[in-house]
Amino acid sequence: MNKTRKLIIAGNWKMNKTVAEALDLVRGLKIELSTVKEVDIVVCPPFTALGEVSKAILDSNLRLGAQNMSEHNVGAYTGEITAVMLKEFSVRYVILGHSERRQYQRESNELIAKKALAAHNAALKPIVCVGETLAEREANRTQEILDTQVRGSLAGLTNDQMVETIIAYEPVWAIGTGKTATTEQAQEAHAFIRGLLGKSFDETVARRVRIQYGGSVKPSNARELMSQPDVDGALVGGASLETRSFAEIIKNSI
Ligand code: PEP
Repeated sequence: MNKTRKLIIAGNWKMNKTVAEALDLVRGLKIELSTVKEVDIVVCPPFTALGEVSKAILDSNLRLGAQNMSEHNVGAYTGEITAVMLKEFSVRYVILGHSERRQYQRESNELIAKKALAAHNAALKPIVCVGETLAEREANRTQEILDTQVRGSLAGLTNDQMVETIIAYEPVWAIGTGKTATTEQAQEAHAFIRGLLGKSFDETVARRVRIQYGGSVKPSNARELMSQPDVDGALVGGASLETRSFAEIIKNSI
C-alpha cells in the first residue's frame, strides 16, 4: 500500500490479560509479525503487565503503549500513574480519552488536552481518541462533535507536538458492537478531522498526522479500511486479544 504516512496499528487490550496471558500473546505476535516493517505495531496491555511485556518485546518490532496516564507529574493522586513512570517501562505511546474513559471516568476534552501535553513533555506519543455516539450520528451531529473533541483535546499542542500525536477516530457505536463504519463513513470522518487539523495547526501538520480508525476492526475488514486515503492505521480492541486475529489484521493491511 503506497501511503506517505506509515501505518500504525495498536492493540488496546483494555482490562484483559494477566501477566502470564499477556506474555503468551506477545510471544505469539513476535513470531507471527517478525518480518513486518511496513507498520508501526503497538500493544497496549494493562499497567500490571507493562513491565514483563516490555522485557519480552525488547528484541522485536513490537512497541509498547499504555491505556491512560495522569495529567500531573507527581504528588498526592492516589491510584494514578505519571508519564515518567510509564517511560521507566520503555512505553512509547499512550491512549488518551478513549470513549470508555470519557463515559465511565467522565474525562473531558480539557483534561485530555492536559494529559496530551504531559505525555509530550515526557516524550510519549499520545493516541487521542475522538468519536460520536449513535444518537449524535443519527442527529447529524457527527462533524460538530468531532470539531469540539479535536479542537478541545488537542488544545495547546505545538505544531511539532501535533505531528507526533496520533488521532484515533472511533465512532462509539462501532466499538465492541461488531458494527464497523463503512469505508465511506470512515474516510469521510478522517478527511474531516484532517481538515480540522489544517485549520487548527497548518496544512503541513495536517498532512503528516496519522489518523487511526477504531471500531470492530477485524481481519476481514482491515484491508478495505486501510486502503482509504486518510486512514493511517487502526486501534483494535477485541480482535487484538488473540495472536491470530491481531496478526492477520496487520498482515492484511500491508
Ligand atoms: C476500542 O475499544 O478501541 C475498540 C476499537 O474496540 P473494538 O475493536 O473491540 O471495537
